[in-house]
Amino acid sequence: MTPTREIYWNITAVWLMYVFLIPTILVFAYGIYRHYRLWRLGKPEKRSVPVAERIIGLLIYALGQARLLRNIYGGLFHTLIFFGFVILFIGTLVVAIHEDLDLRIMQGNFYLFFQSLTLDVFGLLCILGVLIALFHRYLLRPRRLNDTWQDAVILGGLLTVLLTGFMVEGLRIIATQDPWGAWSPVGLVVGKLLTSIVPTELSLPLHAFLWWFHLLLAFGLIAWLPYSKLLHVLTAALNIYFRSLEPKAAMLKPIDMGSAESFGVKTIGQFTWKALLDLDACTECGRCQDACPAFAAGKPLSPKSLILDLREHLREKVNGSRAPGAEKDADDKNQLLVGNVIQEETLWSCTTCMACMQECPVFIEHVPKIVDMRRYVVMEESRFPETMQRALRSLEARGHPYPGTVVSRTDWCKGMDIKILANAGPVDYLYWVGCTTALHARNQKTAQSFSRLLQRAGVNFAILGDQEHCTGDPARRIGNEYLFDKLARRNIKTLQSYKVKRIVTTCPHCLNTLKNEYPKFGAEFEVTHHSQLLAELLKQGRLKPSGGLEKKITFHDPCYLGRYNDTYEEPREVISAVAKEPLTEMRQNRERSFCCGAGGGLMWIEEPNDKRVSNIRAEHAVQSGADIVGVACPFCMIMLGDGIKNKGGEQAPDVLDIAELLDGTGNGKPA
Ligand code: SF4
Ligand code: SF4
Repeated sequence: MTPTREIYWNITAVWLMYVFLIPTILVFAYGIYRHYRLWRLGKPEKRSVPVAERIIGLLIYALGQARLLRNIYGGLFHTLIFFGFVILFIGTLVVAIHEDLDLRIMQGNFYLFFQSLTLDVFGLLCILGVLIALFHRYLLRPRRLNDTWQDAVILGGLLTVLLTGFMVEGLRIIATQDPWGAWSPVGLVVGKLLTSIVPTELSLPLHAFLWWFHLLLAFGLIAWLPYSKLLHVLTAALNIYFRSLEPKAAMLKPIDMGSAESFGVKTIGQFTWKALLDLDACTECGRCQDACPAFAAGKPLSPKSLILDLREHLREKVNGSRAPGAEKDADDKNQLLVGNVIQEETLWSCTTCMACMQECPVFIEHVPKIVDMRRYVVMEESRFPETMQRALRSLEARGHPYPGTVVSRTDWCKGMDIKILANAGPVDYLYWVGCTTALHARNQKTAQSFSRLLQRAGVNFAILGDQEHCTGDPARRIGNEYLFDKLARRNIKTLQSYKVKRIVTTCPHCLNTLKNEYPKFGAEFEVTHHSQLLAELLKQGRLKPSGGLEKKITFHDPCYLGRYNDTYEEPREVISAVAKEPLTEMRQNRERSFCCGAGGGLMWIEEPNDKRVSNIRAEHAVQSGADIVGVACPFCMIMLGDGIKNKGGEQAPDVLDIAELLDGTGNGKPA
């Protein structure tokens, strides 16, 4: 006898199933159409090619759940539920092919191994996943998850569908004395349990009732999917497919200053269609919020709420109007985003550290949205914090964001025999010092140490001196793209006039702008961070540290070096060359490093002491028990230095740039 089973055993009027299926599909399709219509309100953006890379991403991040599984506990139950339903869905398709298309595939070993055993096991794992999710959500209650009635209905609905599926299977196995019943072990056990408590004469009616209940509940969940949080099952996959394939560090798009009629995003319809799809793709998992330093510091910013507030606005204010209607409403105060949907303080809380984007399992792009809204308030409304305004006025007038400073760009190198490019002839490297390193007294020591190391290693380098101007990084993050555009073009012209090919910088913000953002303005330079060049010089034996520093050293990964530019090992290699002890890692390191609080233009904003991101990172540094905190960014130097000073105490560690550590080998202090 070939192993198989009767498909609609004990079920009459099966045709009713198709009657229920039609409205299910119609309601589902209409729901999807409503969302599609919302995404079309956005501006055009090319996100369709290359197809192969997008499909691979889909397989890794949607099917393989790669980002979710970075957090084993949270990712595990989602993966159990996801794969459980994927396999059960395939099992349902097999039934349809076998019965409705009359292709008899559900038999023999395939029936036993897949349709019976595999489906049983995955059904059980799926139940386990739902139970862990319920435990997680309702007993552990992590702060990042909001309780909504929908979560209870969805999890309860899924659990009921799964349990009734096993009950139907179990009752059939017992009633038909299925010879292959042992291949469905969970169904068999459930069947034995049920028949031990249900009178025999009720078994068949109970089976039929549960079969229809199971079917209608499953249809109901499918029809409800586009109107509920379940929507993310589809939108998350779409969002992963259409994710940005550009280098993540080059995510901010330039504005064509010659043709732009408006700047930034004023109303929801001024986002691109992909940005609107982002809003619908949010699973409300709260991983971004957990990672956000601004949220941790008690500032009025949660990247999750930002996305959900925009989504609610998109659905409530715009739903029902067609695209031209949305444009017509653009001047309606209710349609304004900043001040109405997103508060200005929220925008000015973001350090652009990218921790949210790093954590988001469905590749939602928070930072470009924040900068787009900043662009509107800064360039269209001229409404932003006074301290930032002063920094930008100084940028415009003096080429650096430090109003009031009397320090020149070459003061730090007086008496050091450092060449100025204009008089230097060909060099191997241009050392791009950056405003904060050149003009800030504490950071000048980094420039001096690094230059001494280059001289010691015999590297032929020069600086631009007074011809160096800010890269425009602060202007761009604050939202003044016009000023950034102007500074970028001026710097590129200067660099090209000297035929500069290779640049090294001690500032990750300069690194990011020169390396990843200037190419969109036609510039191509090989740009290196000083940690990379120092690690290279150590490998080549051109720098020879004694390596005996008997101090406990930790390292703080700067966001613009780590998350933006994936440089994690080289600074550690420099520290390892100096220290006797292995490096002590700080809590939250590498790609999960915690921002120092200065990025995104926040270096130039007044913050109350109890809301400073830098205090939290300083706490992490002190908790590491290190004697020295190694840094590789002038902003981190200032923020951590201040944060640690605030904490005070005898045990406060020193904050030193990795160049200072290497330069002062043997005593851990700058030479
Ligand atoms: S970029 Fe950083 S500060 Fe801004 S929302 Fe994301 S995690 Fe928060
Ligand atoms: S934006 Fe991403 S990380 Fe944040 S809640 Fe939504 S899905 Fe989760």
